[in-house]
Amino acid sequence: MLNYNRTTEQWQEFDRDHHVHPFSDPDALGKKGARIITKAEGSYIFDSEGHKILDGMAGLWCVNVGYGRQELIDAADRQIKELPYYNSFFQTAHPPQIELSRLLSEVTPEAINHFFFAGSGSEANDTNVRLVRHYWNIKGKPEKSTIISRKNAYHGSTLAATSLGGMGYMHNMGGKDGSLLPGFEHINQPFWYLEGGDMTEEEFGLTRAQELEEKILELGADNVGAFFGEPIQGAGGVIVPPDNYWPEIQRICKKYDILLIVDEVICGFGRTGNWFGCDTFGITPDMITMAKGISSGYIPLSATGISDDVFEVLNSGGDINHGYTYSGHPVATAVGIANINYIKDHKLVEKVREETGPHLMAGLTDLEENHPLVGQARGRGLMAAIQLVKDKETHEIYSGDTDAAFICREHCFNNNLIMRATDQSMILSPPLTISISEIDELLEKAKFCLDATAKDLGVL
Ligand SMILES: *Cc1c(COP(=O)(O)O)cnc(C)c1O
Repeated sequence: MLNYNRTTEQWQEFDRDHHVHPFSDPDALGKKGARIITKAEGSYIFDSEGHKILDGMAGLWCVNVGYGRQELIDAADRQIKELPYYNSFFQTAHPPQIELSRLLSEVTPEAINHFFFAGSGSEANDTNVRLVRHYWNIKGKPEKSTIISRKNAYHGSTLAATSLGGMGYMHNMGGKDGSLLPGFEHINQPFWYLEGGDMTEEEFGLTRAQELEEKILELGADNVGAFFGEPIQGAGGVIVPPDNYWPEIQRICKKYDILLIVDEVICGFGRTGNWFGCDTFGITPDMITMAKGISSGYIPLSATGISDDVFEVLNSGGDINHGYTYSGHPVATAVGIANINYIKDHKLVEKVREETGPHLMAGLTDLEENHPLVGQARGRGLMAAIQLVKDKETHEIYSGDTDAAFICREHCFNNNLIMRATDQSMILSPPLTISISEIDELLEKAKFCLDATAKDLGVL
């Protein structure tokens, strides 16, 4: 039996001795000791010391319906008893994966009607890379295999997803052959606030989108298979592109016959105030990547959504030699169904668009206008970033030994608020079920921590 009754010190000791953490410095964390999270309810998590912590990140951008929802728990319980596992490799299928596919076709963009399942966003992006190349192969253009994405994009952590992504510090973790697969190219991100220089947002949006055209011409359109992008870059720092960016990207993809793959792992399932980020930015993708909010993180699940046109080609190409033992896992897909139904029944997408999203953004805009450390508040729906700056006029950020975001995160930690620090931004992505009064609590705590940071830095 799992022992739930150890002391914090015991857990920290065993954690240090035996458990290797993702995206962490093992030595530093071992010395400090991990915070042990023991339970959760609604918008709050609880640690082993009894602290009640407001989860401004919904776990890792994923617990869209909040914690403790009985509907999802019951779906898992019933399915694990009914059929805990069966595969769909050899001409078999089971009800939950079929029903979830049908349900996804109703909520995803109109042309997306075919679904391939996996266990994580990284696996789904690997799947997309393989399907893109398979697609061009079937069409008799195997040279169209290079994939273009963006610097500072996050698409996951497997070898293909790391190569597809544009995180320099991930690319740098490698041996003599590096850590990247060949066949991936990166263009600059549409981050106007820090990279826009003297350009207006409009000029900058167009310029950054046109880098795609330049890259295609450099590589030759006959060698390029797809462009991948998140509607809003999440892990990169909630980078909301200028409004004209995505339409221009779409135009360029069409012009050069290049597939447009939209990574909806964070933006999907209501986060931006529509079912998908594609809807928010008016994009018509050929394929989409879904994970995180697809099951609200209750159980690992991801999916690739494929348009009718792309599927028609795949359908004519013989065997798809790709799949995972847990593709369309019955318990995971059953939870996925309960999750989508929960979002629908509680009108969470509409709530984010009309009530909670605007309420959060209004509070953050107030910080942008009045707080000495806040240069910009940006976001859509319930996905936002508070950009910390040294100089509000020039957009200069803290650098070198002074890490304002790190200081702020320490204050959040000590004040029972989860906000993530990415470069010099504080990131928010709370559960979509968060109430107006919980948002007020979040804003109040955020301001308190920003004030404490400003005092530490001597600017308040
Ligand atoms: C988290 C994330 C992924 C990777 O998902 P995993 O389930 O961690 O493999 C891919 N793309 C985006 C945009 C993400 O935020």
